[in-house]
Amino acid sequence: MELLKNKVALITGASRGIGKGIALAFAKNGANIAFTYLSSEEKAKDLEMELAQFGVKAKGYKSDAGDFKASDELVTSVVNEFGTIDILVNNAGITRDTLLMRMSEQQWDEVMNANLKSVFNLTKAVQRPMLKAKKGSIINMSSVVGVKGNAGQSNYAASKAGIIGFSKSIALELGSRNIRCNAIAPGFIETEMTGKLDEKVVQQWRDSIPLKRGGNSDDVANLALFLASDMSAYITGQCVNVCGGMLT
Ligand code: NAP
Repeated sequence: MELLKNKVALITGASRGIGKGIALAFAKNGANIAFTYLSSEEKAKDLEMELAQFGVKAKGYKSDAGDFKASDELVTSVVNEFGTIDILVNNAGITRDTLLMRMSEQQWDEVMNANLKSVFNLTKAVQRPMLKAKKGSIINMSSVVGVKGNAGQSNYAASKAGIIGFSKSIALELGSRNIRCNAIAPGFIETEMTGKLDEKVVQQWRDSIPLKRGGNSDDVANLALFLASDMSAYITGQCVNVCGGMLT
C-alpha cells in the first residue's frame, strides 16, 4: 500500500533513531523524503541511499533545527528541489538531563532551542508552501514526559509539554486552511538516545510497562504514517501516546 504516493515529507533529525524509522516508513509508502541531521554526515549519506532503493527522491540536509534563519533557508531549499512540502515531521530532539538544583542555564537553553524553538522555526517556515497548496500535515514529536513530567528532566519535559500546546494552537489556527497539526508522545523507545542509560535502569523501565517491552522506532513510525496520510484526514489538534500502556 502506498499511503503517501508522490507526497513530499520534510523530517528533522532523521539520521538515526525514531526519525530514521519514520523516513523509511514514509519512503516505503511512496513519499519523497527531505530530512535533516546535525552532525551524522555518514549516517545521512547511508540513509539517502537506503531511501532511494524504494524508488523515491531522497536528500539529507545538514541544518540546525534550533536556528531560525537556517530553518527558513532549509524550507526554501527543499521547496526549490522537491516542488512543495506536504508533510512536516518535527522530530529532532536532545536531552540534557539533571536535577533542577544542578541544571545550568546552558542545559536549559540547549534543550529549549533544539526541542521547542525548532518546532516554531520549521512550522512557521512550512506554513508558506502549505497555505499555497491548501493542504498539509504537521506532526510534532512530544513525549509522555511532556504529559506527566519526570524528575531530572524538567527542561526536557517543559519543552515537550510546550510542543503539545503549540500543536493544539496551530491546529486551531490552520484547520480552516486544511492544514492539520498533531503531536505524538512516545514512551520509552529504545534508540541511541536511551542507549546512554544504565542497562539496569532500562530493564526496570521495561518491567514497569504493561506491554513488557520498550518500544521501537517502527512503533512510532506507524503512527506518524497514519497521521501523515489521508487516513487521518479528520484528526487534528491531538496528542497520541505510543507508550505500551505506560501512561493511561
Ligand atoms: P536520537 O536517536 O538521539 O536522534 C536524534 C536525531 O535528532 C538525530 O538524527 C540528530 O542528528 C537530530 N538532531 C538533534 N539535534 C538536532 C538539531 N538541533 N537540528 C537537527 N537535527 C538534530 O533520538 P530519538 O530517540 O530517535 O528521538 C527522536 C525524537 O523523539 C526526539 O524529539 C525525542 O525527544 C523524542 N522522544 C524519544 C523517546 C525515546 O524513548 N527515544 C521518547 C519520547 C520522545 P545527529 O545524528 O546529526 O546528531
